[in-house]
Amino acid sequence: MISVEEAHKIIEGTIPKPSPESVPLSGASGRVLAERVRAGFPQPPFDNSATDGFAVRRKDTEEASKERPAKLILKGEVFAGSPKNIRVAKGECAQVMTGAPLPEGASAVVMVENTSGFSSDDAVQIYTPVKEGENIRFRGEEVEEDELLLEKGTRMGGSEIGVLAAFGYAQPGVFRLPGVAICSTGDELKPVGEPLGKGQIYDSNLPLLGNLVECAGANPMLQENIADDPSQLRHFLTDALASCDMVISSGGVSMGQHDYVRDILLELGVNERFWKVAQKPGKPFFFGTAGKTLLFGLPGNPVAAFICFMEYVWPTCEKWMGIKPKPKIQAVLATPFPRDAEKHRFLFGRVWVEEAQLMCAPTKKLGSHMLTSTMEANAILEARPGKGPLPEGEPTTVSIIPWKSLMGVS
Ligand code: AMP
Ligand code: MG
Repeated sequence: MISVEEAHKIIEGTIPKPSPESVPLSGASGRVLAERVRAGFPQPPFDNSATDGFAVRRKDTEEASKERPAKLILKGEVFAGSPKNIRVAKGECAQVMTGAPLPEGASAVVMVENTSGFSSDDAVQIYTPVKEGENIRFRGEEVEEDELLLEKGTRMGGSEIGVLAAFGYAQPGVFRLPGVAICSTGDELKPVGEPLGKGQIYDSNLPLLGNLVECAGANPMLQENIADDPSQLRHFLTDALASCDMVISSGGVSMGQHDYVRDILLELGVNERFWKVAQKPGKPFFFGTAGKTLLFGLPGNPVAAFICFMEYVWPTCEKWMGIKPKPKIQAVLATPFPRDAEKHRFLFGRVWVEEAQLMCAPTKKLGSHMLTSTMEANAILEARPGKGPLPEGEPTTVSIIPWKSLMGVS
C-alpha cells in the first residue's frame, strides 16, 4: 500500500506531454490554447465613429450653441462597413453611423441628438461644441499590432473565443483532448430504464463518471456497463486499450471473489504502477499504463469512485490537456473531521465564507455508498492520517469542486 503523495507522484510521471491540433473556432469552447496568440493587426483596425452622428472638424463647432448653431455643409454619409471615403473640409460634415470609418479630415463626431438630425438637407445645424477626438474610436487604442492577446495554456471561454474571432483567428491551435473509455462492473448493476431484479441496484457510476469526464473537458468515447465476467471485461478492455488515451473502470478491483478487473488488466499486458493506496475511501484504487494509455481502476462504492476521480483522474485530464490544476486551499473546520489513524481521509463537504474566513465542514452522511450526500457538497475535504478527529477550529485542506461555487452555501 502506498501513500496518497506517492500515488500522485507515480501518476504524474506517466502523463504524456500535451499534443497540439488545430480546431475550427466554433469548436474551441473549453479547449486549451497550444500557442501564444498575438494581434495580427491593431484594434480597432481603423479610426471609426463611436456614435451615430456627424463627423466634423472640431474647430467648426467651437462657437456652436442651441441659439446660434454652427451650420455645416453635408458632404455625404458613411455607414458601418462602407468602403466609401469622404473628405471633410472646413465648414463641412459627413453623416456617420456607429462603426463607420471616420471620414478624412474629420477630428470629432457630434452625436445626432446634438444636431438638427439626419435629413436629406444639404446643411446640418450643430448645437454643441465637441472636443478633439470626441466620439472617435482610434485605430490601436485597445490593442496594438503584435500585442500578446492570449497566453499558451489559456482555457477558452466566451471572452477568448470572441477575441480570437475579432482578430480573425479561424483555426486556433489547441491541445488534444484525451479519449476516455469508461466501464462500470458488477453483476448487481442495472442500467437505468430496465426493471430491477432481486438484489440488484441501478448503475450510478457509469453516468456519474461519464459526466465527470465531460466536466473535466475530456472526451468520453466508450461507455459500457459490464457484468463480473472475465470474457466481457477482456473484450471491453481490449477495445479500450486499442482506441483510448485513458481507461476508467469502476468496481471489481478489490479483494472480492468476483473482482476480475486487475487480473484482466495484467493479463492484457498492463503495467501495474500501483494497487491500493492508504486512503479512505478508495483503498483498492489501481493505476497502470499500457504504452501511453493510462488506466484507472476506481473502487465501486460511488462516493469512493467520485473522490478518486476528483483527486487523481481530474488533475490527470487537466495536465494531459495542458491545464495547470488549481492548488488546494486551507479552510477552518466548523465541525470535527473524523481522521483515520492509518489512512489519508477524504470527505465531501461544504466550504463557505464567514467573517472573511474560509470555513468548512464534512457532509453529515459519511458512508462511501451514500451518493446523495455529495449533492450538498461543494468541496472535498481531506486530512492526513492521525489519531482522533481533527477538532473544530483547526485548518484542513480543501479542494473546491470546480463546477460548484461558494455562493449560497453556508
Ligand atoms: P466493488 O468495488 O465492485 O466491490 O463494489 C463496491 C460497492 O459498490 C458494492 O456495494 C457495489 O454494489 C457498489 N457499486 C459498484 N459499482 C457500482 C455502480 N456502478 N453503481 C452503483 N454502485 C456500485
Ligand atoms: Mg463489484
